[in-house]
Amino acid sequence: MDRLLSVVVSVYNEEAVLERFYKETHPVLMSLGWDYELVFVDDGSRDKSLFILKGLAEKDPRVKVVSFSRNFGHEAAMIAGIDSCVGDGIVCMDADLQHPPRCLPGIVEKFEEGYEVINMVRTSNESAGWFKNLASSGFYKVINVLSDVKFESNASDFFAVSRKVAQVLKRNYREKVRFLRGYVQNVGFPRTTLEYEAGPRAAGESKYSLRKLFQFSVNTIVCFSNLPLKLGIYAGIMAALLGIIVMVYTVLTRGGAPSGYATIVVLICFMFAILFVIVGIIGEYIAILFTELKDRPIYIVEETVNMTKGTDFHTECR
Ligand code: UDP
Ligand code: MG
Repeated sequence: MDRLLSVVVSVYNEEAVLERFYKETHPVLMSLGWDYELVFVDDGSRDKSLFILKGLAEKDPRVKVVSFSRNFGHEAAMIAGIDSCVGDGIVCMDADLQHPPRCLPGIVEKFEEGYEVINMVRTSNESAGWFKNLASSGFYKVINVLSDVKFESNASDFFAVSRKVAQVLKRNYREKVRFLRGYVQNVGFPRTTLEYEAGPRAAGESKYSLRKLFQFSVNTIVCFSNLPLKLGIYAGIMAALLGIIVMVYTVLTRGGAPSGYATIVVLICFMFAILFVIVGIIGEYIAILFTELKDRPIYIVEETVNMTKGTDFHTECR
């Protein structure tokens, strides 16, 4: 067993599934023919998750735990996992068993074939409900039109990267407002996709509210596309053209045009609406600029268990 597989699992209030996750994942990991480590990142859980994780780590030294000082979000947890793991291949997955452990042998096989990025694409997501599924496919359509990088639709937070790619993510993708799976799809390197079926959550409930997902979508569009910023120019050109037409019309009718009160009111409302939307869009970009500028850490580690000595989060959380 020369090669090491790191499995990074983000955990936020998952006390109900953790034992089961370990029970189902462990035999699969044992059968891989690779050594393994299971890196659980506890994202400031307020239930017994951390306690359960420490129990697992005590029994199995290959179980490692990184625990945050508070909740930093799913992506921050994955980033901390990638920062701290030492494997030749790294798999990020959820703790709720929606990303089936039985896919791991397939992933290892792809690593052995020489692939560096393995995207897991879900074929169906029954538990999400029709609205979330529709919104998700709509989001991917919009972002693919707006952005010059192309996204795999239905890509999930289930992916695997090689050590080399992990280094790139670690050194060069430290944005505070980010879309990790977007980066993973756009770093290049030999890349392949595998399909999996996302089952229902094993237990507990989804941590993503619709509001969070909406904010996430806006951030992603702003991060990956400058096109909305140019909306102002297009709107300005359209307004100028409209102005010229109205001017020509007024001159031709020698000022004898009927007093168009309704027209004026509608036009003013319409123009202001466009103006405010554009100002709002610029505001979104400024907010992100401001967040990046402040350069606060992506996550703060409170404690670690079974971690390889020398893992220095302090320099890496920036
Ligand atoms: N998660 C996290 N921090 C958060 C929210 C979620 O680490 O702030 C973890 C959660 O424990 C789970 C994964 O991210 O392992 C996916 O979350 P969830 O299953 O709630 O999302 P869904 O599958 O419904 O999109
Ligand atoms: Mg889930």
